[in-house]
Amino acid sequence: MKIIENAKALWNLFKDYRSMNDDDLADFYQSKCDYYQNYVAISLVVGAFVSITYIFSDYLLNGTYLPTLIPRFSILVALALFLVLINFVRDSKLITFLDFALAHCIVLATMWAIYHLEIKVHASEGFIIMNVVFLTVGFVSRPRYTFLSSVIFILEILITNTFNHYPNLDIILALQIPVGLAVVCSHILLTLYYLDHYRVRQKLELAMVTDPLTQVYNRHLLEKIVTKNALIDAQEPIAIAMLDIDYFKQVNDEHGHYTGDLTLLYIGKKLSTETHGDDYVIRFGGEEFIIIFKNCDVNNACARMEQFRRDIEAATDTPVPFTVSVGVSKYTGDFAKTIQNVDSALYKAKNTGRNKVVVV
Ligand code: GH3
Ligand code: MG
Ligand code: MG
Repeated sequence: MKIIENAKALWNLFKDYRSMNDDDLADFYQSKCDYYQNYVAISLVVGAFVSITYIFSDYLLNGTYLPTLIPRFSILVALALFLVLINFVRDSKLITFLDFALAHCIVLATMWAIYHLEIKVHASEGFIIMNVVFLTVGFVSRPRYTFLSSVIFILEILITNTFNHYPNLDIILALQIPVGLAVVCSHILLTLYYLDHYRVRQKLELAMVTDPLTQVYNRHLLEKIVTKNALIDAQEPIAIAMLDIDYFKQVNDEHGHYTGDLTLLYIGKKLSTETHGDDYVIRFGGEEFIIIFKNCDVNNACARMEQFRRDIEAATDTPVPFTVSVGVSKYTGDFAKTIQNVDSALYKAKNTGRNKVVVV
């Protein structure tokens, strides 16, 4: 049954959510915020303007526009401040704070306007409508902040009651508490369903930069590293190696493409296990691999590649015996230039007998 399947899917998402550590959660909420913040900001701006139009219902109750004119238009000050500040924040927690701050300013401006109403009995409807604004902020918020915001809203009602004297406070609270809980529940669901989207996106992003045959990174990642200048600020030394299988065409010709593929798979796995977690192993072309060694000087990188070359030469578990040639160079800060250096080191290794590591 569909309802049971949905419940199961939701339960699995909940378990996934609970398994995330603080860093994962921070990344998840940042992604949710980046994805939805434009929608939330536009909705809040519209909400702020719509709240001004309540002067017409004020007119119906007071018979004049004047008393609530300033409270209603006061939201423009908060809105202007919001529109300025929102440009300077990127962190999802700060963005959520500003969103909720504007939502609560809309509430407070409404409460101020109610103070000037002769008939306050309709405050209950006004407060129910405010939940639409809170519902919107849920697209970027963590459910626990939504809960906090709902509690603050009830406190705002209770505090303003000391001078607004709502004639139907009991009804206001009896309506607001379940609606507030519904808003929190809606935000929990929203968060779990966004997690589903987030995981699909993560898988797609990984597939984009993964070579399907060898399961190491592909050139898309290299382009990302280069275009984002991801290595430029590194304080520690970085070395880059380019590895090429010797006479690989011969492997294909003599043993077939399938054995050739198995050889590539073998070398991809071996490179992944013999490098460190923050190094990058990238399939650069057919049987050429680039290795970016983080926090590693050129001599160390050279020693590690020499060991790797020897291991391959001596290995007995390869699909067919083969050797590799390697060019190594230190990262100069200019990626294209470094690749040129590495390439010419590899060229030298090939031209001076193969099965060796050369540094430029
Ligand atoms: P060298 O020692 O000078 O590097 O000689 P080589 O034969 O390895 O060099 P060459 O660049 O001429 O040959 C590379 C070969 O790699 C040619 C191509 O058929 C093969 N190749 C490229 N991609 C794949 C792949 O995905 N699978 C298989 N099986 N072979 C591939
Ligand atoms: Mg080759
Ligand atoms: Mg080649």
